Amino acid sequence: MTVRTIITPENPVLRKKAHRVTDVSDPKLQTLIDDMVETMIEAPGVGLAAPQVEVSQRVIVVRLPDDEGSVEEYGDQAGVLYTLVNPELVRVSDEVVDGIEACLSIPGYYGSVSRHQAVTVQALDRRGKKVRVKAKDWLARVFQHEIDHLDGVLFIDRATEIWRAAEESAEADDEITGEEAAANQKTER
Ligand code: ZN
Repeated sequence: MTVRTIITPENPVLRKKAHRVTDVSDPKLQTLIDDMVETMIEAPGVGLAAPQVEVSQRVIVVRLPDDEGSVEEYGDQAGVLYTLVNPELVRVSDEVVDGIEACLSIPGYYGSVSRHQAVTVQALDRRGKKVRVKAKDWLARVFQHEIDHLDGVLFIDRATEIWRAAEESAEADDEITGEEAAANQKTER
């Protein structure tokens, strides 16, 4: 496995609509997935979409941390690795919630973003089997953030407010719910 380079918005791949995967068994796709998992964990982050490593394919990986605090807060969703190919939001809650997000492709920035509180994602797993994942709260937010990447959409497009990390107060740091800073969080990541 290889840690790949995470691209930033200067690279146009990040803004392209990614292609649907047609052959899940393709060894190149399997290698991509392995590399994405390693890249996400090394970053560290809680989610990564293929366009972030310059591959315009509809693949995301998501994994909430499994430290003691996260297990307490997220229960059996903590520490589960989701590898989703061609993911789609098939159900979303009417309820939307504001939360603070960050992105590995936009280092040093945070933003306040409204997201559906709960979603159901339909996708293929890495063996090509159809799966449905129900998610709420932080996990639902991460799925929405990652699926946005597959359409070239970044959290800064949706944010009602954006600020630099240096402007962050210590209190707000505890509420960050985006991809970034998995290692820094006391309770969430
Ligand atoms: Zn992102």
